[in-house]
Amino acid sequence: METQAAIIGGGPVGLMLASELALAGVKTTVIERLKKTVPYSKALIMHPRTLELFAMRGILGRFLDKGTKVSSGHFSMLDTRLDFSRLDSKQNYSLMLPQAETERLLEEYASSLGADIIRGAEAVALTQTDDGVETVFRDESGIRTLRSLYAAGTDGAGSLVRKQAGIAFLGTDADLIGTLCDAVLKNPPESAFFSVCRLQGSVVIVPLSNGLFRVLIVSPHAPQKRKEEPVTENELKEDLREICGTDFGLSDPVWMSRFGNAERQAEQYRSGRVFVAGDAAHIHFPAGGQGLNTGLQDAFNLGWKLAAQIKGKAAPHLLDSYHQERHSTGKEVLHNIKTQIKLMDFTESGMALRDTMTALLDFQESNRLLAGKVSALDLHYEPDPELPPHRLNGKRLPDIELTLHDGRPARLYDFLHKGAFVLLSLRGSIPAGIGTDSVEFVRAELSETRADWDDVHSVLIRPDGHAAWAAGGSGREAEETVLAGMERWGFI
Ligand SMILES: Cc1cc2nc3c(=O)[nH]c(=O)nc-3n(C[C@H](O)[C@H](O)[C@H](O)COP(=O)(O)OP(=O)(O)OC[C@H]3O[C@@H](n4cnc5c(N)ncnc54)[C@H](O)[C@@H]3O)c2cc1C
Repeated sequence: METQAAIIGGGPVGLMLASELALAGVKTTVIERLKKTVPYSKALIMHPRTLELFAMRGILGRFLDKGTKVSSGHFSMLDTRLDFSRLDSKQNYSLMLPQAETERLLEEYASSLGADIIRGAEAVALTQTDDGVETVFRDESGIRTLRSLYAAGTDGAGSLVRKQAGIAFLGTDADLIGTLCDAVLKNPPESAFFSVCRLQGSVVIVPLSNGLFRVLIVSPHAPQKRKEEPVTENELKEDLREICGTDFGLSDPVWMSRFGNAERQAEQYRSGRVFVAGDAAHIHFPAGGQGLNTGLQDAFNLGWKLAAQIKGKAAPHLLDSYHQERHSTGKEVLHNIKTQIKLMDFTESGMALRDTMTALLDFQESNRLLAGKVSALDLHYEPDPELPPHRLNGKRLPDIELTLHDGRPARLYDFLHKGAFVLLSLRGSIPAGIGTDSVEFVRAELSETRADWDDVHSVLIRPDGHAAWAAGGSGREAEETVLAGMERWGFI
């Protein structure tokens, strides 16, 4: 079998990547071990930056229809919640949506764009040649080989692709194991987001849409079990009684599992023609709900770059920027997870630290700092060192309101639906000498006040909504910066 891009692992991250590649017209094949998606959901929350990405592709409505908006998040279950509503985004909220539903919607989307998803197919080996990648997989018809120009491992924490590509997965094993279940609670807590963190341990309880409740427990003083050891209903009830004084009438669990604080990151996100993304690239304790979100954002960063490479339109520096941008982002996420775990220190002094942090979160600026991290809205990439500096370079751009040159109102993300670059020109015309069908040219002015944009002549906006570069000023000098920027990004 032949394809242009092979994706090993059709979980949420693989499906997002497949969608982005297929949107760009790349022949994409996904190999997924499972015949059907699992009905249980690890992740329940999608954060603002992920929702922005969906808005950029015009698919946000599909997710909003199935989920529930929440205007806040949490940091290590501290009593003061993170206020997302003050963040600079049209998507300044999270969405409660079970991962199984997210995967269903993404699979539908990827298939509608033409990605070929082969289920019940397990990759068993992967090798690189000078001009491609060979993935050997096993399915009902036996052993087969998929040849591709490039391959991505989105095959989760135990990633075969990462191992076969020789990429080290550096970090530490778990020494704290929590339990979770989806079950009936006859006497549920009154609060919709119940969370306690006490000397005895921590408990989070969240209502699910099917009348069940998700219960997450960390019981640090009990002997730590292995992650694979089956969970029993009795164990859950005993832990709840020990920490909360009641088992909330827990019964009829439909899913019980364990999760841990193992923390690892792939040393390289690229090895030649092979990439890793999502849990194949980073794993950590599920604090603040960031794993799936970070993985989907990896896929969104890699998709358009790989598509440009496959279509022969990528600037020379583009493909390596995936590792540079997403490895450092992953490192930042692990950093905030470490802090959250440190705050789960079930001692008297640990509780004092939590009280102090809770009080600090009452201050708007501290709350904003951590809300920016957990929502991923404070994510900006390094400015391109080869281009004249501008404060917008590398910045994540919100869905800014515009007035087009013919007077019609529009929003920035409207122009990103096709996954192409946008050259937004605020001062006059596009300089002569630029003629490319890979960029959408938009002449407009801002309909809102933004100090960072005061002097902007033009901005090249990447398909993932970051400013590749901005040119300030006006006249010949600004036009020359635009031409240099277009050349550097491979459009001239
Ligand atoms: C308790 C818990 C709660 C969580 N809550 C949140 C949350 O609220 N928000 C959040 O952002 N994150 C959360 N996470 C993390 C999130 O669930 C993961 O980060 C996410 O599932 C990663 O997606 P992925 O596609 O990278 O990997 P996976 O979901 O692991 O998918 C990998 C896919 O690859 C397939 N596969 C594996 N090996 C092969 C092979 N050899 N051949 C073919 N296919 C293969 C698998 O079958 C699977 O479908 C939580 C995690 C846990 C444990």
